[in-house]
Amino acid sequence: MRGTTPRREQGMADPVLAEMVHATGATESRHYAAVKPTIQAYRASWVKLAPYRDGPVNSQRVTVSDPAAMTAQIKAKAAESGANLVGVCRLQPHMIDLGAEVPHEFVIACCVAEDYEKVIQGPDAVEEEAMRTYAKCTEIATTLASYVGDMGYPARAHHNGASEVQAIPIFYQVGFGELGRHGSLINEKYGASFRPGFVTTDLPLVEDRPRQFGVQDFCMNCNVCQRNCPGDAIPQDHVMTHGVKRWLIDLEKCYPYSRLREEYCHLCVDVCPYIVKSHPDTYKAFMRERRQVGYKTPKTY
Ligand code: SF4
Ligand code: SF4
Repeated sequence: MRGTTPRREQGMADPVLAEMVHATGATESRHYAAVKPTIQAYRASWVKLAPYRDGPVNSQRVTVSDPAAMTAQIKAKAAESGANLVGVCRLQPHMIDLGAEVPHEFVIACCVAEDYEKVIQGPDAVEEEAMRTYAKCTEIATTLASYVGDMGYPARAHHNGASEVQAIPIFYQVGFGELGRHGSLINEKYGASFRPGFVTTDLPLVEDRPRQFGVQDFCMNCNVCQRNCPGDAIPQDHVMTHGVKRWLIDLEKCYPYSRLREEYCHLCVDVCPYIVKSHPDTYKAFMRERRQVGYKTPKTY
């Protein structure tokens, strides 16, 4: 299957970021240049696992007479490996990078939630926690692809080290949540504070479905992320994409805070009521820390 959705490039491959960085006279964004050893180690872990994403396929194929039972088995394996959410859907062209070929019928989506207690320790801690969860997702996807390959079905891991699939349309389709005003997908338990890993495969599975639990209606009357965004990058109005309501972040307003400084910015996710509601006592300390490093002082909450 050939993909139809342009990938949003990361780092200096992102033309918007590259133009903004070059306009400052620099050749690299301050955020990416200021990489700590712990972050380097996490990045190295997904580069190291990338060559193993298409593992060997056992010539002795397991017969799948009950796809529902097989789906439960796969989800249990992913959870045992550390995934907080696991879902399955049929792969569709808009879930694949423009022009990329993925020769599989299904995609298994996994996510690992960030630890809010670590996130509140400041921008360095936020980034380290994000990289830890990306690395964990890489490990889970690689393990799961190998597990499926052992059963005699082709499977490919998609993660930060190498991927041809797109997180948001898949997460939406498997029912992990709804898109919030801050542009990320919100789950009722983890907010938008989680990271993705995927396995595409031909293993017969049973699909999950999109779920609505009121996020988009809530966002229409909530603008906490918008009021707290230091760059005023979060819009009031939405657009429709594939029949789904989306708010598009203005990257030229976001990047001065999230890419052109050394510090990471994750603030829109961390102030969202869907994650704050389970951590009310730590939210105030988190906001104090943010103010100390120069983010916009939050208004009333
Ligand atoms: S990452 Fe920071 S600057 Fe960018 S949209 Fe979120 S809060 Fe605003
Ligand atoms: S902070 Fe409010 S408006 Fe922003 S994504 Fe969360 S619920 Fe939606």
